[in-house]
Amino acid sequence: MDLGLQGKSIIVTAASKGLGKAIAKQFAAEGSHVLISSRNQEELQKTQEEIRLETGNNHVEYTVCDITKPQSVKELVSKAVEINGTVDVLINNAGGPPAGTFDSVNDEDWQNAFELNLLSFVRTIREVLPHMRSQGSGRIINIASSSIKQPIDNLILSNTFRAGIVGFSKSLSQELAQDNILINTIGPGRIATERVAHLDKVKAEKLNKSYEEVKSQSEKSIPIGRYGEPQEFANMVVYFCSGANTYITGQSLLVDGGMVKAL
Ligand code: NAP
Repeated sequence: MDLGLQGKSIIVTAASKGLGKAIAKQFAAEGSHVLISSRNQEELQKTQEEIRLETGNNHVEYTVCDITKPQSVKELVSKAVEINGTVDVLINNAGGPPAGTFDSVNDEDWQNAFELNLLSFVRTIREVLPHMRSQGSGRIINIASSSIKQPIDNLILSNTFRAGIVGFSKSLSQELAQDNILINTIGPGRIATERVAHLDKVKAEKLNKSYEEVKSQSEKSIPIGRYGEPQEFANMVVYFCSGANTYITGQSLLVDGGMVKAL
């Protein structure tokens, strides 16, 4: 299927590693013009080189952007417009907030998580909308978590703000549909990124078990029997941003191998 993404201008935030990187790579493989960003210039440069080499697409640029900083977000979108003329697709991704229960987090933790995992998405969208509106089309995907359907123990900050993304995104879908701008939220279950490996190692140490044992137990709790690959997640994100999707907006979808049992 021709996904119609050749030459489209794509922004992927938090894309030096993990899911963001996989998504950027998949867009590059479709011939899109991709601008990746995160806080670490060295990592971004490595990722740019890797994506260019693997996909043969040289239209992959990077810019340093901490998405909790409003000026940094403005500069990110300006750069995409300067290089690629407009913004067709925005992929909103961010690092995860720290783990914790209600009793273990304070006001500062709540404020930081709000800025990283919800307000940052509001700001990026505010900056891209004029460009999408003026061309009469756009696609926005918010990356969240399986916790949008089922809260995860010890992750009260994530559970709260990921659910906020869903409400925000649904409301906005109603306002943007008239401009042919479609916005959806996609939640990863357990996708094999560096972060998930790190979390399994921390858990293994805490339980005095081996990393392999912890990972294997975790994989057994997923009906498909394994972690997802970043590319499997990226495939879905790219599909929802492509010409194949002209009618789905305001939805929340999990890519989780059947892990979450909620309807
Ligand atoms: P990851 O491997 O840790 O990558 C996180 C990315 O976010 C990095 O590129 C990091 O780059 C960037 N980042 C962090 N803070 C940033 C900031 N303030 N501004 C800009 N970029 C920032 O994580 P991942 O596994 O790909 O997960 C991506 C998101 O999905 C996270 O929010 C995570 O909690 C969520 N999630 C993932 C899974 C999963 O199975 N992987 C499951 C549920 C939820 P720099 O350090 O260079 O800034």
